[in-house]
Amino acid sequence: MDVLEKLTILTDAAKYDAACTSSGGSRSFQKGHIGNTSSSVAGCCHSFSADGRCVTLLKVLMTNRCVYDCKYCVNRRSNDTRRAIFTPEELADLTISFYRRNYIEGLFLSSGVYRSPDYTTELMIKALRLLREMYRFNGYIHAKAIPGTAPELVQGLIAGGQAAMFTAQEGAEDSEQLAADDLAAARLNEKDALVALAASGRTPYSIGALKYARARGAAAIALVCSPNSPMSKEAILTICPLPGPEVITGSTRLKAGTAQKLVLNMLSTGIMIKLGKVYGNLMVDVQATNQKLAERSKLIVMEATGCSRAEAEAALDSTDGSAKLAIFLRLSGLDVQTAKQKLKAADGYVAKALMNCTKASPVHN
Ligand code: SF4
Repeated sequence: MDVLEKLTILTDAAKYDAACTSSGGSRSFQKGHIGNTSSSVAGCCHSFSADGRCVTLLKVLMTNRCVYDCKYCVNRRSNDTRRAIFTPEELADLTISFYRRNYIEGLFLSSGVYRSPDYTTELMIKALRLLREMYRFNGYIHAKAIPGTAPELVQGLIAGGQAAMFTAQEGAEDSEQLAADDLAAARLNEKDALVALAASGRTPYSIGALKYARARGAAAIALVCSPNSPMSKEAILTICPLPGPEVITGSTRLKAGTAQKLVLNMLSTGIMIKLGKVYGNLMVDVQATNQKLAERSKLIVMEATGCSRAEAEAALDSTDGSAKLAIFLRLSGLDVQTAKQKLKAADGYVAKALMNCTKASPVHN
């Protein structure tokens, strides 16, 4: 399906999505007239910018596929309607193209729930990131929160905010208070773990973050490359790889930066395992957002279950592309609905869910 076809389907599917000033009006569309407010014509809606201007927005869904069946909704699962889904790249591209042609000044984005609220939200965020970070689009975006999306499990903060990724925010890392403000905004609490980084172990922003975390009962962890540092004194646990003197003195990006990146990769991988995203040594929560990843999903299902490519494709088709569910389906011998319930009851852990089934895994325990 080409992008224009997707656009036709997904703007039409979005026209019932209330919450803006110009959708759903009762006056019908009249050729040659302006100021159309009818829900019979899709594609644009309007809102007001901070300076009071009325701005035109591209009003569209990420997808009209939905796992739910809300009776009032045109996108409900049981409705016999054409379905489409944008890739984040397609949506970002389209928005920028329209913006550059002066058709729109912003984006109103909502979505059906494709696979899961988290999965859908990740697709939407990826599109928005492309707009904000790759295209540097600074205009109006209204993105709807998908109900049921998990609160952020891992959040990254940097002294000076996101802008510091691209432009040095001089002085930001010298402020302990800035870290406290950022963590307060992120609602850090006693259930969280905070990992503060600084090669030197004495950056005020990182020290401030550790102090704030400890004061709120969160696990305060320092990741530094310097022993006995001020950060270690504020942390309950210090991870301190010692890569030795830098190749270029005065810059910690090469050895210390790389060592810290390796530690972060290990931590995030451990988190993924603990969250049930891995079965054996296979990443089963792989999200097939492009062809390479779709192919990887198939290979993972084949490897985990010992099935043929055709069987893996059939299993993935029946689970809407979820490799984890496809694996569990084949290994358990259950029907899709029961498999979903069992997997949910096992907190998403394939191995745990299999323990409650009679048909055993041929590959993993
Ligand atoms: S979850 Fe939203 S998109 Fe899906 S059927 Fe219900 S109202 Fe429609």
